[in-house]
Amino acid sequence: MNCHCGTTKTYQDCCEVFHRNNGKTETAEQLMRSRYSAFVIADGDYLMATHHSSTRPTKEKKAIVKWAKSVQWIRLEVLETTKGTENDTEGTVTFNAYFFENGNVDVIHEKSAFVKENEQWFYLGLSR
Ligand SMILES: [Zn+2]
Repeated sequence: MNCHCGTTKTYQDCCEVFHRNNGKTETAEQLMRSRYSAFVIADGDYLMATHHSSTRPTKEKKAIVKWAKSVQWIRLEVLETTKGTENDTEGTVTFNAYFFENGNVDVIHEKSAFVKENEQWFYLGLSR
């Protein structure tokens, strides 16, 4: 079975690696993909750990986990990335995340901003 994030690797060889090492990815896209997979398995700890401390929605953690469990995740589509490589300290990932909610297909379309701090990528929020 392919990883939740839609690569051709298995979950064990893909996002689980980052779920186990607390989000130490090489690229912003890997972090974004692993965060999508964390939504699929409703891993709230990982979502908080990989969210930059300046914007981390700690108080909403329970609600986020509850919501992530309540929907059926369909697939992730990465549309575009800027920077975000091993040699960068910032980057963006634009994506569509499809899910079923109350019997309807819905999609989150977002251009996310990522920053690297202490050699680790973090999700900052919507890119401006
Ligand atoms: Zn993956």
